[in-house]
Order: sequence, then structure tokens, then C-alpha cells
Amino acid sequence: MTTHDPLPVAHPAYDRSRLTPGIVHIGLGNFHRAHMAVYLDDLFAKGLAMDWAILGAGVRAPDSRMRDALRAQDCLSTVIELDPAGKTARRIGAMVDFIEVQPDNAALIAAMTRPEIRIVSLTVTEGGYYVDPATGRFDPTHPDIRADAAQLDRPATAFGAILAALQARRAAGVAPFTVMSCDNLPGNGHVTRAAVAGVARLSDPALADWVETHVAFPNGMVDRITPATGPRERAMAAAFGLGDDPVPVTCEPFRQWVLEDHFPSGRPPLEQVGVTFTDHVHAFEAMKIRILNGGHAIIAYPGGLLDIEYVHEAMAEPLISGFLDKVEREEIIPIVPPVPNTDLAAYYTLIRDRFSNPEVADTERRLCLDGSNRQPKFIIPSIADNLARGHLPRGLILESALWCRYCMGMTDGGAVIEPNDPNWDRLQRAARAASADPMAWLGMEDIYGDVGRDPHLQEAFAGYLNDLGARGVRAVLADYLAG
Ligand code: NAD
Repeated sequence: MTTHDPLPVAHPAYDRSRLTPGIVHIGLGNFHRAHMAVYLDDLFAKGLAMDWAILGAGVRAPDSRMRDALRAQDCLSTVIELDPAGKTARRIGAMVDFIEVQPDNAALIAAMTRPEIRIVSLTVTEGGYYVDPATGRFDPTHPDIRADAAQLDRPATAFGAILAALQARRAAGVAPFTVMSCDNLPGNGHVTRAAVAGVARLSDPALADWVETHVAFPNGMVDRITPATGPRERAMAAAFGLGDDPVPVTCEPFRQWVLEDHFPSGRPPLEQVGVTFTDHVHAFEAMKIRILNGGHAIIAYPGGLLDIEYVHEAMAEPLISGFLDKVEREEIIPIVPPVPNTDLAAYYTLIRDRFSNPEVADTERRLCLDGSNRQPKFIIPSIADNLARGHLPRGLILESALWCRYCMGMTDGGAVIEPNDPNWDRLQRAARAASADPMAWLGMEDIYGDVGRDPHLQEAFAGYLNDLGARGVRAVLADYLAG
């Protein structure tokens, strides 16, 4: 092979003409193609479940661009695994067609009404479920939801379309499909049921009762870092001779999928290709949220304050990876409830390797984003659990002080930090007031709740915040590691 020859690409190891659809997937972005579609491709390669192929779908106008791109290449997706030991590429053949994207979703509803469709799955992003941030519950007053409830024959949302198809199946005496969210939300099945039944509740309460009783919404935990596609990713595809694919996907080698086994209309035997079926999805979620997402928060702000661009560069800085190790081992892993067949220390070691993968090129700025939404989910509960055990978690409190320092808006090198949170102005005001009065920060009830009222925590936080201002991130981390 000369240096100009493209790298080898793996193609579907099965006869795609034998596939028939069993799944409609709504929200055909990068993650679905790097995750669920890959598991199904593995299953088909074993000669199994050929009646569970995917029909792609979307409810938003921009999805038609993905439809055009994929249909032009026979619905094959390029997936490049970013293994530091060497990238590999494969063409995933699990999708057989992409339903036309229409404002009234007529074609989508018709497809979901076909009896052979037994699962409707979704990746419509965490923000796509119409959850009211103030209550954490489904928001039936949202204009999109009210519009769908008023015109169920022309729904614009995924949930209105799903409900219209369920209603048509019920009228035709066809068993309902299972609705499977693959979005990164704790209790994603519950959240999805609230949305579908919530639309029904506004228009036809009997239909809402029927949905709640007869339709299955299994909860699931999904994991695989899948970056957005840009010039860097397209150049990688070109190296494999796939430069004419406008929508290649890249992802880390690791993947995980944990599901409740609640599929009354049947499911592919995904356990044959590494999917875990369990009644304890919430335990896996808690592990992921505390160790992985919490870990991201721990390395985010010191890296941001030290002007470090990439996550793997932050991990290569011993002060930051040392900070992560110490906080995870002393303050997070001990409070994570046990997870079936899982060694939490080994899970953390894997996370550490994943964060260190230079090929993924995840940015520190992305990890620093949206702390006001993430901290109450990923960090504050771990602080609360430590306090409840009578342990003052100094590392997590330092993490809070680093976040506060970041929100003041300037790095240790003197660079301005551009707004990086939907609540940036409020956070910046509170952060700037916190040096004189820590309660200006810890008193943000929606973020800290009771935790902010703990006097020992207040004292430790104030000490770290003043120290960060006086001596900088490096000196404070070095002291913490020496302590
Ligand atoms: P993406 O931007 O590539 O695709 C998002 C898809 O969702 C698009 O098809 C878009 O049209 C659709 N969408 C967005 N908002 C919607 C809405 N309100 N209603 C209906 N459809 C909507 O993003 P992605 O990388 O595929 O990630 C999608 C989701 O997958 C994430 O939000 C997350 O919940 C989950 N996930 C992603 C990753 C990752 O690393 N990318 C990892 C784990 C889980």
C-alpha cells in the first residue's frame, strides 16, 4: 500500500436485501448512528433479527438534509472509531430507508402505524422532552404541545406524532409499539411516557389512560462519546476514501447500553451484542452521572482557568488528573450505590482512559458549559451525600469554588472567558460578589439547596475561593493534592 491509498473500510457483513424494518427512529443525528445502529449492525452480522432494521425519521425541517445525504448513499452511515492505537472505519447498514420529513408528519405517522413496526426509538436531545425547568415535570402549557393536542391529525412534535400513530393502531386493533428513548436523561422512559401521555391528556383523557396502561416505555442508559461532525471529521473520512460522504460520524471505541427488559411487542436479542438488560437501570445511571459526568465537571473548570483547550490536554496535566483521581476515589466512588456486576474502581479507570483519548478532541469549553444546569445533577448530590455521612468533601467544595472562579469571567492567564451558561449574567454577578460574601454564591437555592447552608462547607468554600484569587489554580491544586 502506498501512503496515498485509502485506509481499509469494513462493510456490512450480511445481505442487506434480506432486512425488513421493525424500528422507526426519530432524531437521526450522530449519536444514534454511532450507538443503536452499530449494535443492530453487529446483530445482523451474526445473521440474527433481520426483521429489526431501522427506518430513519425526523420531525424537524433540517432532518431532511440528513435524509437526502443518507438516501444518496443507500442509507449507509460511515462510523469511524477513534481508537488511539489506530482509527478504524466501517459502513453501518442497519438503516434501510428514511421517511420523508413533512410539517404534518403524515408519512411518519403512516410508517409508525404499520404492524411490523414494533419499536419507535428516539434521540431528540435532552432539551427535546418539554420538561419545565422550574418543576422538572412535563410542561403541558408549552405552545408546541398545545398545538399538537388541538390538531392531532397534523402534529409537529415527536410526541404528537407517536400519539397519533398509537391512536391509529388502537383503532385498527394493532398492538402498540414500544417507545424507547435513547436520550441522556435519568429515567428517560418515564420522561417520554409523561410527554406522550401528556399530549393525550390535553385532548382525550381516555386515550391518555390507555397509553399509560398499555404502552411500554423502557428506561435506558446510553453511553458513547460522539462528537459533532466538522472539517476535522470529514478529513478523517477522506483518509478512508470516504470523502464524498457528507455526514460521517466519529466516536470513541467505548460504548454501553443498559435497558429495562420491557418490550411487550418484542425486541431484537440485543444481549447477543453486549447490551445489558436489567431491572436496575437507575443504578447504572447514578454511576454514570456521579463518576463520568461529575468527573467531567471536576476537570472542566481548572482546565478552563488554565487556558487548556482540549480534555485530553487537561488529563495530561498532573495537577488536574491528580485532582480528578483524588476526588473520585475519596469522595465520589465511596458514595455511589452498588451496581450489578460492576466494579466501580474499574469503571472509573475506564472513564479516566476515555477522557485521556487524544483522538476524540472534546473541548474543555464544552465541559464548562451550562454549569447551572449540570452542577445540581452531577456534583451537588455527591456533596450532599458526603455531608449526610458526616464527611466534609473538600475536593468537591474546591470544584465548586473553581466553578465560581470561572464564572467571574477571567482565566489565570488573564484571558476573558466568554459567556458559557444560559444563566451567565446571574452567575457572574453572584461570583463577583462571592469573594466578599460567599453566600452570594452558595445562597443560589435552585443550585445548592440545603447544601449551601452547611457552615463547614461555607467556611471551606470561602477559603478555597480566596486562595484561588490570591495564589491561582496551580498552587491551590498542588496544596489540595499534598493534603
Ligand atoms: P445531533 O445534533 O447529531 O442530532 C440531534 C437530533 O435530534 C437531530 O436529528 C435533530 O433534528 C433532533 N432534534 C433536536 N431537537 C429536537 C426536538 N426538540 N424535537 C425533535 N427532534 C429534535 O446530536 P447527537 O450527537 O445525535 O445527540 C443527540 C442526543 O443523543 C443527545 O442530546 C443525548 O441525549 C444523546 N447522547 C449523545 C451522546 C453524544 O456523545 N453525542 C452521548 C450519549 C447520549
